[in-house]
Amino acid sequence: MLTMEQIQKKSLNRLVGLNPVFKIVMEKLIERCYARGVWIVITQGFRTYAEQDELYAQGRNGDKRPKVTKARGGYSNHNFGFAADFALLLRDGRTVSWDTLKDDDKDSLPDWSEVVEEVKKLGLEWGGDWRSFKDMPHLQMVFGITTAQFRAGKHPTQAQLNAALAKFNKLEDEPMTAEEKAAFKALQNTVQKQADRIKTLETTAKQPKVPAWAEQACINAKAVGVLDTANDGSYDFYRMVTLLDRAGVFKRGGVA
Ligand SMILES: [Zn+2]
Repeated sequence: MLTMEQIQKKSLNRLVGLNPVFKIVMEKLIERCYARGVWIVITQGFRTYAEQDELYAQGRNGDKRPKVTKARGGYSNHNFGFAADFALLLRDGRTVSWDTLKDDDKDSLPDWSEVVEEVKKLGLEWGGDWRSFKDMPHLQMVFGITTAQFRAGKHPTQAQLNAALAKFNKLEDEPMTAEEKAAFKALQNTVQKQADRIKTLETTAKQPKVPAWAEQACINAKAVGVLDTANDGSYDFYRMVTLLDRAGVFKRGGVA
């Protein structure tokens, strides 16, 4: 079982070069997935144009490897720090998986779809939603900016970035969590109240000395060896002794 910190650490290198806001959202995604039992790693983050061109060359111009991208340098959101790819990290803490049907946390939900659920909550765009070419591991946040606009130097406004941050800060206080917190607080109060009440009952019920109305009954009970000490009894205890005495239980020899 890896800790959240250990899981985060595995993606650290891939988060370098990303836009700071997008990076925070990625870290948040890893955290939220971990909280529901799904471990993920970021396998691809920022790419330079040169790195993108290298990827583009795979499977083209005589290269025998399979094609991995449709985008050359400057045509992928990875080139502008607003895209990342994820994969599942299996429970051995080493194996990376792209199996979209895997259910490693055994909750009958494919882990991949659990990640996508969190992706949407965070306001990210998922490549699996694309119609022409589904890119299942791909995540991005582009604020409506096209790669052509990015190439021309356009950036999201501070207001847009703030809105993205506000969106996930709001998730921190999402209704479910607030409700759970309130329920927990109420439970704590109830337990404390019950503890106080029992304490009060105990102190008030315990009689400092044998009540006058029970004295004779206690003497009678002692006389027949039923009672060793009459001290420190509760109200109910003295009441019971008195009732038994009235019933004639402690009469010596049992004869009237
Ligand atoms: Zn991608």
